[in-house]
Amino acid sequence: MRQPRLNTRCVRAAHTPDTATGAIAQPIYLTTTFERDADGAYSRGYRYSREGSPNRVSLESCMATLEGGIGALALASGLTANIAVFELLASGDHVIAPHEAYYGTLKQLREHVRERGIAVDFVDCRDLSAVKAALTARTRLVWIETPTNPLLSITDIAVVTALGHEAGALVVCDNTFATPVCQTPFDFGVDLIVHSGTKYLGGHSDVLSGLVVVREDAALLERLHAWQRLCGAGLGPFDCWLLRRSIATLGIRVRAQCRNALLVAEFLCTQPAVERVYYPGLPQHPGHAIAAAQMHDGFGAVLSVCMANGRAAAFETVRRTRFFTPATSLGGVESLIEHRASIEGPDSKTPQNLLRLSIGIEDSEDLIDDLAQALA
Ligand SMILES: *Cc1c(COP(=O)(O)O)cnc(C)c1O
Repeated sequence: MRQPRLNTRCVRAAHTPDTATGAIAQPIYLTTTFERDADGAYSRGYRYSREGSPNRVSLESCMATLEGGIGALALASGLTANIAVFELLASGDHVIAPHEAYYGTLKQLREHVRERGIAVDFVDCRDLSAVKAALTARTRLVWIETPTNPLLSITDIAVVTALGHEAGALVVCDNTFATPVCQTPFDFGVDLIVHSGTKYLGGHSDVLSGLVVVREDAALLERLHAWQRLCGAGLGPFDCWLLRRSIATLGIRVRAQCRNALLVAEFLCTQPAVERVYYPGLPQHPGHAIAAAQMHDGFGAVLSVCMANGRAAAFETVRRTRFFTPATSLGGVESLIEHRASIEGPDSKTPQNLLRLSIGIEDSEDLIDDLAQALA
């Protein structure tokens, strides 16, 4: 039988009625410790919840199924997932990272990773000769984020992964913006996937979380799990439960959000108040052809616009919208709008006239009408 399709996996992966009671919804196992057998063993598989708990195990197994990997780790945040990967590195190693990526990831690399004696080169990952030139005999890790935050740049996952592997490096892809609904980086040979589960996987702006998924290396998965146990960075039962529950509707939500995002992007392109629209689903986006080849079902639901009349016009637009809440973050069912440069701080390279929109599941007509009146 063929592998179940996406929505079936979202609902069914690692989801079985509770054996003790028949409850359809998984119970939330609020316990820190588990009973030992008469001989002192733990035949039921759990000892102490820092090491593993039933809600975490089912979430991790579900994520491994969705991405097509052998296992996953559920962690306290997306940035904790990044740290789990950086902890695989040692002093003297070299990392290639994108010059444009999630602000927190860049900050971790510039500050925390470099402090540990690890060299980091930031390159434009769209420029393959720049990636090639940056690889050295010490390169242990190549970091990919596609589409990027906030300019939605597209990296060719297959080509950059092949370059990284030729140099003997691990390749990791931050799949937060695309989600496994739109893009499955393991198909292109990536070794690890990280997610901020806070965004689309959670989908309701109510749970902070991160995930690391491993494609096929069991020893690597065990190293990561050992770090998770040692640091106590694992996600708690209630957060795991919320995330697993949200993933049941991931396919439905993300497909609706992508459809809305394309309609909103096309509308914004017609607006004189908007100087430029960044959305990989638009044919004029410079990464569109690569995105169309590696994103199999939609182009994500984040888009950015540069306003024709600068920073003041950007703030005025935010002030006038009704169905776009001014807030940071993305991926939830409600649409958000954000002036990125002012949240990223003084060393941000994001243009001052840029607004980032995270498109929710509201009716697209309402979102478009709202933007039309805000821009008028
Ligand atoms: C939000 C985000 C992160 C960080 O995740 P947190 O859950 O906020 O720690 C990492 N990468 C990307 C692309 C993100 O959007």
